[in-house]
This record gives sequence, C-alpha cells and structure tokens, in this order.
Amino acid sequence: MPVSVVTGAAGFLGSHLTDRLVAEGHRVIGIDNLLTGSVANIEHLAGNENFKFIKQDVTEYIYLPGPVDFVFHFASPASPIDYLELPIPTLKVGALGTHKALGLARAKGASFLLASTSEVYGDPLVHPQQEDYWGNVNPIGPRGVYDEAKRFAEAMTMAYHRSHGVRTHIVRIFNTYGPRMRLRDGRVVPAFVGQALRGEDLTVFGDGSQTRSFCFVADLIEGIYRLSQSDFREPVNIGNPAELTVKAFAEKIIEMTGARSRVIYKPLPVDDPRQRRPDIGRAKSILGWEPRVGLDEGMRRTIEWFRQRLD
Ligand code: UDP
Repeated sequence: MPVSVVTGAAGFLGSHLTDRLVAEGHRVIGIDNLLTGSVANIEHLAGNENFKFIKQDVTEYIYLPGPVDFVFHFASPASPIDYLELPIPTLKVGALGTHKALGLARAKGASFLLASTSEVYGDPLVHPQQEDYWGNVNPIGPRGVYDEAKRFAEAMTMAYHRSHGVRTHIVRIFNTYGPRMRLRDGRVVPAFVGQALRGEDLTVFGDGSQTRSFCFVADLIEGIYRLSQSDFREPVNIGNPAELTVKAFAEKIIEMTGARSRVIYKPLPVDDPRQRRPDIGRAKSILGWEPRVGLDEGMRRTIEWFRQRLD
C-alpha cells in the first residue's frame, strides 16, 4: 500500500487530495498546523486506519518513521487576505516548508509534488498563460510574499530534481472553488456566495472588469493525481480556461442564488491581476486531462454546500 504525506491536509485542497489518495488505496499522513486549515475538513477521516493526522508546522524538521512513497506539499495560506495578514508565515512555508518537504522526499526516496500557483505569472502580460511564460511579479508588493515564496518553491523543487534526482512535479493551480472553502477566507467565491446567501450586497473590487477562470475542485484534484503518477518534471497548469469578468461572476451568483442583493464597488487591492486564464495545452497532451465540470454545475454544488453551512 503506497504511503503519501500531504502537508496542508486540513486545508481546502489538501483535504480533497487526501480523500482522493485514500480512495486510491494510499495510507495518508496529513500534516497541518491549522493556521488556515480546519479539522472540520478531515474529521470524516477520524478512525480511518489509512489516515493519520499530525499537527505540525512544516517549516520545522519533519520526522516520520517508516517508508513514504509520495510527498504532496500543499501547506500555505492561499487567500490574498490570509497572506496579507500572515506575510512571514506565508514566506516561510513556501521557502523553509518546501525545503523540509523536499528533504523528507529525498530521505525517503519518495516522489514530490509542489502545489504552485498561477500567481507565479503575477499580473500577466501574456494571455492566456502558458507554462513557459516567466511572469510579471512585483517582489515587494503585498502579494509578493505569496508569489515569490511559490517562485522560490518552484526553483527549490527543480534544484532537488537536478541535484538530488528527486522525482518532482509542479502543478500551477489556477482559481479553484468548491465545498470546504472557508466562508470568510476572503476569496471571491466564498465572499460572493456568503454575501448573496445572507442577502447582503456583493463587493466587487475595482470596476469588476478584471477576469478570472474558475475550476471546480474535483477537476483540479483529478489533474493533480494524474500529474503525480506521471514522469513529467516541468510545471503544468491545471485550471479551467472558461474566463469571465468578476462583475459577470457577481451577477451570475445573484442569479443562481435568487438573492435580492446588488453589486457594490470597493477599491481594487494592490497588484490585483487584470486577467487570468490558463493555457491547458500541456495538461491535455501530457496528462490527457481537461476539466469536466462547468461553472454552472460546479457553482450549484458549491452554493448548496455553503447554504447548508449557513442554515
Ligand atoms: N474580488 C472581489 N470581491 C471580493 C473578493 C475578491 O471583487 O469580495 C476580486 C479580486 O479583486 C480579484 C478576484 O475577485 O480580482 C479574485 O479574487 P480572489 O481573492 O478570489 O483570488 P485571486 O485570483 O485574486 O488570487
């Protein structure tokens, strides 16, 4: 039975990945310091003999007895308001945490997969974003703590592959949504859905003409699982290329929830990317992957999940 370590296992993506690995017959050791993760995301695994939880900060030395076959490094604050509030922990988990997780993979002879991000492209000057685009990142801006930590993490991952022969993988994750996002994590999906379900106005930042492309979590996890099973070492974008403006997204949520909310406008955060859409040609050709769940279907399921949490 393969043994997988998932850092950030109590987070939104880490917990969905953990579920998938357990379903694939892995024994999973989940590590999380619960800074932005929540035990509620993994409590259904309590008592499952194939899951073990360790509450630890992965920037500290990771000691685990026994064999490990895969290390998935998913620990990090991931919402802009979280990493603005937690700039130094964000830098540390991307830098020191990645180093520790790679060190564990190397010591165990395990494969490694880094959860990287479309934020490595910054406010992109190339559209849609292909993996060979180097990005447009402000290193000293408020988002730089996340963007540069992830860029360093990618560099460290490639160095461990080239210098130590670790079997590494890098996924660049684009905006993803679904059940288990924190209602108040500040990202646009929980923000708008929470506001609509409470009958509050939806806060669009800027004029709402900036674009994003939203991927349902089940699709993302499928892509990541396939990447982990591949021999491909370069970064791979995983995301849904269906792009829309933030204003159109707000209107869609109002319509789908039947809320009587209006759209109101707030200042645009510093360095908020103008546009974002993954080019998924690489994922298609190398992994045979493309998203299956459209925005309407995915949002229906997500709104339903949030509705149950609010009731
Ligand atoms: N956004 C918004 N209202 C909110 C939260 C976010 O208009 O209440 C905008 C934000 O400025 C950005 C987009 O929605 O343009 C996506 O923001 P999110 O925080 O989800 O992630 P990002 O893609 O910026 O990392």
